[in-house]
Amino acid sequence: MTMPSPRKGVLDIAPYIPGSSKAEGGENVFKLSSNESPLGPSPRALAAVQALDAEAIVRYPDDAPVELRNAIAARHGLNPDNIVLGNGSDELLTLMAQGYLAAGDEAICSEHGFLVYPIAIRAAGATPVFAPDHDDLTANVDAILERVTERTRLVYLANPNNPTGTYLPISEVRRLHAGLPESCILVIDAAYAEYVRRNDYEAGIELVSSAENVVMTRTFSKAYGLAGLRLGWLYGPSHVVDVLNRIRGPFNVNAAALAAGLAALEDTEHLQKAVEHNDRWLPWLTEEIEKLGLKVTPSVANFLLIHFPDEEGRRAPDAYRFLSRRGLILRGMGGYGFPNALRLSIGTEEANRRLIEALRDFLEGQGA
Ligand SMILES: *Cc1c(COP(=O)(O)O)cnc(C)c1O
Repeated sequence: MTMPSPRKGVLDIAPYIPGSSKAEGGENVFKLSSNESPLGPSPRALAAVQALDAEAIVRYPDDAPVELRNAIAARHGLNPDNIVLGNGSDELLTLMAQGYLAAGDEAICSEHGFLVYPIAIRAAGATPVFAPDHDDLTANVDAILERVTERTRLVYLANPNNPTGTYLPISEVRRLHAGLPESCILVIDAAYAEYVRRNDYEAGIELVSSAENVVMTRTFSKAYGLAGLRLGWLYGPSHVVDVLNRIRGPFNVNAAALAAGLAALEDTEHLQKAVEHNDRWLPWLTEEIEKLGLKVTPSVANFLLIHFPDEEGRRAPDAYRFLSRRGLILRGMGGYGFPNALRLSIGTEEANRRLIEALRDFLEGQGA
């Protein structure tokens, strides 16, 4: 008997492993494994979801949601016709692969880039090509450009990158774009753009506006705190938007996400609070963890990559178990090529303080 088999490449995909929400111990569990907002969603977004009535639920949502696209466009100074909404930005990153890649094509990602890209690339039957990062874990523009061939159709760049928390200044992103052939699209994934406080950083809006081969994706999952509703958007040239609108599923964004997204966008105060919370705790955690003698990759996002010593009982998996028994869930990084690191999402004040206490106990060899 012959079994049905999937398209070539599908079984080479290592399934995405989401951050755990389970801890081994602790009454109060702090999930610090998925870069979700410690402040939660805007109360206005929550109210908008709760206000959905039977009529809103029995009907299909708007297929080409004008209101939300208009609101996003107004906020960022864009043309709403150049925006595509997605069921999370992951859907849009995947649609880019589906729309532009075929068997034999290549797409480039950075060595420690977001794992959704190679999944999307392989699912489209194409081949991911990995470019090594610099020693400081920033993406290496020259290494990416060196790997461009006549088969390269897409380059995925998370800026800032997850899980390293590093970023490229816009001058480097421009240099990357300038070195790509016109037939190759640069996909800038700016999921953490709201958090970045650097004068030389730009999410890429101007670059998209001035080129035919650049798109930028954004999400409501991180600073806006709406990960559970799945809402993201892409800004791109008209010809790319046209392709995505042909291949996306009809009604790909649900009614709750549309309502919440609109309300969240209006609540600039809540967004501001989320960013200020990060401004306070990102440097605090970095400093406190370094004081404990651990190495931290400098981050501009809402998470930190913590490197553990290569010593018996003090490695990342040991720390993971110890912290888990204290109700603190971090993210193992083996899948990202960092077997001896954990990623920590910035949490509430209580979570952050507990984390430092627990890490100190772990390093001092005290029992959990
Ligand atoms: C979290 C994250 C996203 C967001 O994904 P959604 O599907 O919008 O929730 C996209 N890119 C990166 C690099 C991320 O870390």
